Amino acid sequence: MADIIEYADDLGPLKVIHVHEASVGLKAVLVVDNVAKGPSIGGIRMAPDVTTEECVRLARAMTMKNAAAGLPHGGGKVVLQGDPKMPKPQKAELLRCLASALRTEEDYIFAPDMGTDEECMAWIRDEVGRVVALPREIGGIPLDEIGATGWGLAQAAEVAADYCDFELKGARVAVQGFGAVGRNVSRFLVEKGAVLVAASDSRGTVHNPDGLDVQSLAALKVEGRSLADYAGGTHGCCDDIVDVECDIWIPAARPDVINDDNVEGLNTKLFLQGANIPATETAEARLHEKGILYVPDFIANAGGVICAAMEYHGATESAAMDTIKEKVARNTRLVLERVMADGISPRQAAKEMALERVRKAMSFRRFSTFSMGPNYI
Ligand code: NAD
Repeated sequence: MADIIEYADDLGPLKVIHVHEASVGLKAVLVVDNVAKGPSIGGIRMAPDVTTEECVRLARAMTMKNAAAGLPHGGGKVVLQGDPKMPKPQKAELLRCLASALRTEEDYIFAPDMGTDEECMAWIRDEVGRVVALPREIGGIPLDEIGATGWGLAQAAEVAADYCDFELKGARVAVQGFGAVGRNVSRFLVEKGAVLVAASDSRGTVHNPDGLDVQSLAALKVEGRSLADYAGGTHGCCDDIVDVECDIWIPAARPDVINDDNVEGLNTKLFLQGANIPATETAEARLHEKGILYVPDFIANAGGVICAAMEYHGATESAAMDTIKEKVARNTRLVLERVMADGISPRQAAKEMALERVRKAMSFRRFSTFSMGPNYI
């Protein structure tokens, strides 16, 4: 990694902590980016090839996302080196050791990300307590099971439809990726009267302009099968989802899936970003140029982190869902209003809005990024 000074700006990072415990093979990095709005929340990403630089960027993304969502939390992130599929006792030991090492880092609240789940959060709670996205049995709100992110995306779609020339009722939807986010946003949009015309997973695409049955598709995934096993519709390869004619196209799988090679193929009016950074910078700019409206990831997919923060503050599941609805709808509208008023891209509008909120919070602080003392959390 280049020297950290190259990454530091007026927002952060506040702290970069390397954690190393040879006896259990623990190598991890915590980046606390900015805590002007409150202690940082951000997930632990576990993978063999994680880097400090990645962690710095992801922590900043959390500062922006939490600020845009209007949460009393800053942004942070942990990367943990290792194979997330390692034997469970070994994984538990690593996570418990990591949590113990960061016991006093009150600027950071542990959360799950790629490679970690609610069981991992339960181990951390057992060590330090400062953690979100716990199993239901110990007071958590299972955000993937209830579809927190999908619920937020459906609200964003409803607002964004007002800025496009279609109604949500009868709107044709294509969803790439049918995991926790993809299948739940499909369910919620169909409940609002939209029609799921295409869906894909890592094995292929299924397409039917007359509509697919969301429940049957979801059941296949829950059984560990693929959408390729769905009876009916036209089947094709993964990439066939890209140029399906629709009103709303939702990426809910991997980063950079829309890029210079395929952006011209998108045949939609609204590109609703369920996945994080689903389009490259240039592809996103091209969408804007072509008049395809997009709602940026950290505005549209904030339902998960809003749910986690609500859990942390002791809210019930229904209160969490109400808050997601209110916040995501409001923020989507604020961003799209800015786009219309200032003629800027949705990404720029969202960044400006988030930055204004962080800077305002910093203006209230003696040391703009330092923690607030013993009653902080
Ligand atoms: P998941 O693992 O539950 O589901 C991912 C799905 O994508 C699977 O169905 C998988 O088969 C599919 N997939 C993988 N490669 C694909 C490809 N090339 N083409 C089509 N499908 C492919 O993950 P998730 O929790 O649903 O998250 C999806 C995305 O949304 C990720 O980018 C994640 O970072 C982001 N996200 C998730 C949440 C959340 O609350 N879960 C919140 C914000 C952002």
